Formats: sequence, C-alpha cells, structure tokens
Amino acid sequence: TLASGGALYYVAQKDRTPGPQLPHDPTKKTLVILGSGWGATSLLNSLDTVDYNVIVISPKNYFLFTPLLPSVAVGTLSPRSILQPTRYVTRHKKRQVTVIEASATDVDPVTKTVTFADTSEIQGLVSTTTIPYDYLVFAVGAEVQTFNIPGVREHACFMKELEDAEKMQRRFLDCLESAAFPGQSVDEIKRLLHMVVVGGGPTGVELSGELHDFLEQDLRSWYPELAEHVRISLVEALPSVLPSFSKQLIDYTESTFKEAKIDILTKTMVKEVRDKSVVLQLPDKSIAEVPCGLVVWAAGNTLRKVTRDLMAKFPDVQTNRRGIAVDECLRMLGSNGTIFAIGDCTATSYAPTAQVASQQGAYLARVLAQIAKKDELEVRLKDLQVATEPEAKEEREQIEKRLTKLEKLRPFKYSHQGSLAYIGSDRAIADLPFFNGNLATGGVATFLFWRSAYLSTLFSMRNRILVATDWLYVKLFGRDVSR
Ligand code: NAD
Repeated sequence: TLASGGALYYVAQKDRTPGPQLPHDPTKKTLVILGSGWGATSLLNSLDTVDYNVIVISPKNYFLFTPLLPSVAVGTLSPRSILQPTRYVTRHKKRQVTVIEASATDVDPVTKTVTFADTSEIQGLVSTTTIPYDYLVFAVGAEVQTFNIPGVREHACFMKELEDAEKMQRRFLDCLESAAFPGQSVDEIKRLLHMVVVGGGPTGVELSGELHDFLEQDLRSWYPELAEHVRISLVEALPSVLPSFSKQLIDYTESTFKEAKIDILTKTMVKEVRDKSVVLQLPDKSIAEVPCGLVVWAAGNTLRKVTRDLMAKFPDVQTNRRGIAVDECLRMLGSNGTIFAIGDCTATSYAPTAQVASQQGAYLARVLAQIAKKDELEVRLKDLQVATEPEAKEEREQIEKRLTKLEKLRPFKYSHQGSLAYIGSDRAIADLPFFNGNLATGGVATFLFWRSAYLSTLFSMRNRILVATDWLYVKLFGRDVSR
C-alpha cells in the first residue's frame, strides 16, 4: 500500500519485493515532475530543491536540445552534443533529487498518485510502480501526429526524438550506398536519392535546409557520380511554408529553396506513405504516386495518451482538444491547485514552442518557492493555534498577514524573444520583436546570429563547447558518411 504523506516506498509488485526507500523528508511536500524536456528542465534549473522532496520521472534520462535535432540527422552535430543528462542538473542541487527513468502511465488526481512503468529496453522487464505526490508538474510534451495516414508509422522517419534523427541518418546513408551499388537503373538511382520531407513548419524547413547543405558541402565530393540525382521535396498541405513567420521571410525562404533546388510543393497533401513511394494529393485534387527513397514526417504534434487520460478525469473543465487547460498560474483546471501543466501538453494562447515551455518552467520554479513558503507558514500557524501566550498571538497575526500576501500568485506572462529558423545555405531567418514593431531579417548575418543565439540557449557550457567543436570539425573535415 501507499504511505500518504509519510515515507515513500516503491510499491510491492508481483515479481519484485519492495525496493529501496526514496530520499524523503516527512516535513516537506512531495513534488513529482513528469518529463525532462524544455519545461521540466527549465523548472529543474531554477527550482530550489530544498523546499520539496523532488522526484523527476521521464522515459529519457536526458534533456534533448530539439532545435538542433535536424543537424544531428545529417551529421553536422553528433548526438551527444545536444544531450544533457538530467542528473547533470540535479547533481548540482543543494538537496538530492530522485531521477527515475520511466514512463508515466496514469495520474490519479483523487488519490494524488502517479503510476509509471520501467522503460528498460535491455532488461526487458516492464514493471509498474505507483507513488503519491502533493504537487505534480505535468510536462510530458507531445508526440508525433500521424493523422492515422496509412504507412506513416511503418515507412516514414520522424524528427522528434534523438533516435528519430539517428534512424533518418542511417536510412539516408543507406539510400546513398544502395544508389552507389553498381548496375542500377537510372530510375532506381533517382528513386533512392529522392528525399521527401512532409510538413512545411520550422522542423520540415530546417531539415530540408540541412539536407541541402549535406548534399552541397559533402556529398558532391564523397559521391560525385550521384550528386546530380539527389532531389529534395518539401510537401506542405497549406498554401505556404512557415505560416507562423512573416510574409517577407516566407518569400525569402521560398526563394532560397528555389536557388537551392529544393522543391516546395504547397497545397499538396500526403495521403499515404508506401515502402518505396509517397502518395500525394495535388492542388487540383488529383492523386500522384511519387517514388522516393526516404520520407521524413514533420507534420506536427499531438497529445500523448497519458495526457488525454488525465484530461478525461476532469470532463467538465478539460474540454480543449489541443491540450490541458490551465489558469493564469499554470494550474490545471479542475485539479484544485495540485497539478501544474507546462509546455506542449497544454492549450494556451501561445504557440507550443520550446521558448514558451522554458519560460513556463522558470516561472513555475518561482511559484513553487512561494507555495513552499506558504505551506510552511500554514504548518506553523496550526502549531500556534492552541498557544495562548501573547507572543504566540503576535506571531499568529504576523503569519496571517504574510499568508495573505503569499496567497496571491503573480500570473505567468510570456515574453516573446523572437523566432529563428535555419534554412540551409548558411542562411537563417529571424522574426524579432524590435521596439514596438517587428524586425524580419534573413541571410548570412542572421545565420551567425542564429548560431550564437542557439549556442547561448544551450543549457550548459559542456554542450556549448561540444556544439561549437562539431561546427568547427565539419567546417574543417566535412560530415562523416560512415554508418
Ligand atoms: P508544425 O505543426 O509547425 O508544422 C507541420 C506542418 O505540416 C503544418 O504546416 C501542416 O499543414 C503540415 N502537414 C500536416 N499534415 C500534412 C500532410 N498530410 N501533408 C502535407 N503537409 C502536412 O510542426 P513543427 O514544424 O514540427 O513545429 C512544431 C512546433 O514547434 C511549432 O509550434 C513550431 O513553431 C515549433 N518549432 C519552432 C522551431 C523554430 O522556431 N526554429 C523549430 C521547430 C519547431
């Protein structure tokens, strides 16, 4: 059984005896954080872990710097450079944080418990455990949206997790080596070297740009006989790519892609992905089957099952299909202030971006510090309730005053720092808030700005050095094409 409010134990399961006790101070509340992405990591960076018994549960024991994922897919950066182990953050904290590599499968807001499953691939054990929480931070992100389009899961590569980028790189190089195999027909070589990127959002655009760089900067010298057959197509259902950027930058991106010979197919929808082709619905509604060697699916994200299940537990208030509805202080509606939700699993007035999630995480660290103070004073007040001495009365009054102040939480306010995207050919685009207007720039200077902005956004010096070294390495020696 679970000890509620008392010491925490791994719960006994059929094939496991109770495990070690988690570090626990009964005078502090238990804060469980689900996730290790932008929201959760930013929260952990700023959180004073002395205030709570902190437990982080995430299927990945690291933070992934997602904006640079397309660079990993083409070998500009090595995977390790954009990873930061979650324990790298927590080991520097004043008070120990428990990090558990596991997938949360269920949250019970009535008993205030989280159930999670071990995700060990090597051990092959799938065991489930339930622990109680006082406060829960739900920061589980989102998963790839396939719209149930046939063949997407089976044949396309995604661009969301590290293993997606690694898988894409392996497949891409496989296509190149297969095309280099002697005696192939020209049609088969062209098919193998046709790369289709689905989704003209920032992910699809950045990936297409990176693929183009790989082709121009490296493949022309590694595979001179094949380079002329490589084709990159970017398929977008809407009338233009990058709908969240200004018109001027959309035009700039489209003209850069035209120069780079990246085909942009707008008003075109992918209807099916097959083993060696992709089925498109063209702007005139006709259907075409286009042969290709690789399909990368960057068509957006959707809610995870654990998020949908949690929302279903508050059917009256959690009705937004985009995600968890929160109040101005990021408390999940219906949860009575015990569950906070941040990042891509929420439905707010902001776009689901890394920037929003990371500001929400930093904000939540301040809120949780205030709540800890309040909880501590409430306990003290309870102790003083029975005391009759005049000093006790005075202290009670002081505490009540402070509690009234602490009751008020300052609402979350997002401050947009601008949007940046790399579009290949050493060019980037930036939509930046500038005084009262907007500055839209694109080009090589913006590319240098993009690089320095990303370098400074990387959470640790270790990652900054690794990424900068990779960039230098590629400049000097080119990308690696071994698999
Ligand atoms: P997205 O949702 O922004 O774009 C996906 C695109 O795929 C949409 O334009 C959609 O119309 C298209 N699409 C969907 N189904 C399709 C189909 N069957 N055929 C053809 N096209 C189809 O997804 P994203 O690019 O992964 O971005 C996700 C979020 O992350 C966004 O909020 C984005 O702004 C943010 N992001 C920002 C950056 C950046 O600023 N550099 C980088 C990556 C992601």
